[in-house]
Amino acid sequence: MPPERLLELDDVQVHFPLREGLVKAVNGVSYHVNKGEVLGIVGESGSGKSITARAIMRLLPKRAVAAGGSIRLRPRTGEEFELSALDRNSRAIRQVRGQHIGMVFQEPMTALSPVHTIGTQIMRTVQLHKGLNRADARARAIDLLAKVQMPRPSEMVDAYPHQLSGGMRQRAMIALAISCDPSLLIADEPTTALDVTTEAQILELLKQLQSEMGMAIIFITHNFGVIADIADRVSVMYLGRIVETATVDDIFYAPKHPYTKALLRSIPRLGVDQGRRLPTIPGMVPDPFSVPPGCAFNPRCTYARPGICDVTTPPAKHFGNQISRCHFAEKLAEEHAHV
Ligand code: SF4
Repeated sequence: MPPERLLELDDVQVHFPLREGLVKAVNGVSYHVNKGEVLGIVGESGSGKSITARAIMRLLPKRAVAAGGSIRLRPRTGEEFELSALDRNSRAIRQVRGQHIGMVFQEPMTALSPVHTIGTQIMRTVQLHKGLNRADARARAIDLLAKVQMPRPSEMVDAYPHQLSGGMRQRAMIALAISCDPSLLIADEPTTALDVTTEAQILELLKQLQSEMGMAIIFITHNFGVIADIADRVSVMYLGRIVETATVDDIFYAPKHPYTKALLRSIPRLGVDQGRRLPTIPGMVPDPFSVPPGCAFNPRCTYARPGICDVTTPPAKHFGNQISRCHFAEKLAEEHAHV
């Protein structure tokens, strides 16, 4: 039986009509997340990965326009939500944000209130969405803090966010995000601001929670190195579009898009690249007001062919479950066949 789809995005468009011109921050993005899987979304800053996540939650910035596409959620409860049709302040979207999708950010203070204790914030959420009384809600808050491996959870429940270290605040935000057993957790650069040791602990915690609770995760990062550890499948974004989607093994060992290949070359390999200068992707990410015609990656691509890549937008090419949007994806497939 094919895996059950939890979330499906189809041709999602988010535009920013600015004085300088129209920015298509998300330009026809389609992807899906299966129940219980981890989908990594990788891309440089400005690729549209976080704006797509905000479109799912109907939390777009005021200037953004949801210009098209559909976003469908089928949580474990058996309901179905067409998220793209919901008003950002509607009761239904608040229900989705409270019960079905949790979100963690790079900066925990985006989600945590500085003037309330961690316990109060978790208790309010579970009282509202799970109908618990005060005593049960407090017990649930302590359980959740224990679950995210917060030290001394029965004391920490009364701590304010500013009394915690960066790693502990991240744990508190994760406890809040999973407090109503969501079907999906969106983790947007959750480890980017942390030191390497704390990053490894938070990744381990997310993996453990995912397998214990059976929830799916969308893990958004600019760091390809982090993805290998946590994701089942990966989508790579460039300038508002998904350019490649594949299993984590195919992405790492048989990438079929030159941008994925270039990103992979810039990851340092432990013990091999120490002291070596790593290749970088030539050129800069183009100005969002003047995205190149054809394939947007063409000015930086070593495979680009004039007259093709700078004229025609590449279609999606399928290699089993791997999808690449490159005119010459077959050429990359052949290269791997001869390695
Ligand atoms: Fe490079 Fe052309 Fe493929 Fe774009 S379509 S990634 S420019 S080879």
